Amino acid sequence: MKKALPIVVAGALAVLIAGCSTSSSGSSPDKSTPGAATPAATTNTKAGNSTIGVAIYKFDDTFMTGVRNAIFTAAEGKGKVDIVDSQNSQPTQNDKVDLFITKKVNALAINPVDRTAASIIIDKAKAAKTPVVFFNREPLADDMKKWDKVYYVGAKAEQSGTMEGQLLVDYFKAHPEADKNKDGVIQYVMLKGEPGHQDAELRTKFSVAAIQDAGMKVEKLAEDTAMWDLVKAQDKMAAFLAAHGDKIEAVITNNDDMALGAISALKAKGYFKDNKFMPVVGVDATAPALKALEEGTLLGTVLNDAKNQGKATFNLANVLAQGQTPNKENTGYDVTDGKYVWVPYKKITKDNMKDAQ
Ligand code: BGC
Repeated sequence: MKKALPIVVAGALAVLIAGCSTSSSGSSPDKSTPGAATPAATTNTKAGNSTIGVAIYKFDDTFMTGVRNAIFTAAEGKGKVDIVDSQNSQPTQNDKVDLFITKKVNALAINPVDRTAASIIIDKAKAAKTPVVFFNREPLADDMKKWDKVYYVGAKAEQSGTMEGQLLVDYFKAHPEADKNKDGVIQYVMLKGEPGHQDAELRTKFSVAAIQDAGMKVEKLAEDTAMWDLVKAQDKMAAFLAAHGDKIEAVITNNDDMALGAISALKAKGYFKDNKFMPVVGVDATAPALKALEEGTLLGTVLNDAKNQGKATFNLANVLAQGQTPNKENTGYDVTDGKYVWVPYKKITKDNMKDAQ
């Protein structure tokens, strides 16, 4: 749950936000604290006249905090954004969308709680003639076809999975001793994100496929969902260790928060000291994950480019708010199949960490 935080606006005004809605057209966001509120701002007369209604699935998500801050920054001087927390509830998000429509926002930018429920939002948006850009949680292809003013900004989940697998392939090739029982098979455990989320399903599948494609054999010892969450991942990893102990040779996770949770559980069992190592991979390249890379606990991650995803989301919504059709010229991003902006992933290890900072 987001807590109300006092924020200094335009260098002078302190605003206490009691609800969960923040609007931007001016000041700079907090990039340092995951889960921190995006600053509110008074109306900036230099900004465009459009207002974009933005709903995040929940504020308390490390990666989405980065995207939220990027949307806020992209809006500076260009348009107003009203950013709300859907608190991980689809009915709450639907209510927020109704409110945006009542307020006559010029476009919507929606990070669905349940991506299969996007059609409800599309129906509402279409009835009100308010264009909508979905981001991070991809609506089903059939829903995307329901109206020509529906767009999606995201990243190709399979690409991130493949890259995670390749990070492990590189590691096992360089460290044959990491096959601890010398059976020629990598025994791994998998920590999954939210079931049904395209990133959870496809990263799980493609990470393992990339290892097999490199000619290596794998054996799954355990798999469970930790819902993208660090604390849940720590608990699940502790359970995996209790059941399989040192038989585990690699830990694959669908995001960095879960990788960091797994690392905490591993530390509690004596890993990452006295030559006891476990290769752990994640996705996102969040600030705490980069710190873990630097410390040598996290083996590798994949940059999930929050900055460009946030900027593309705002740029598309802003162009649509002005009655234009998004294209490379007016958004700065390639629009594929007339509807999709795909932001590329990048493999990150200790050696190229600066590419993610
Ligand atoms: C990120 C996760 C995040 C999820 C939220 C994914 O793309 O990798 O860290 O929790 O999106 O939908």
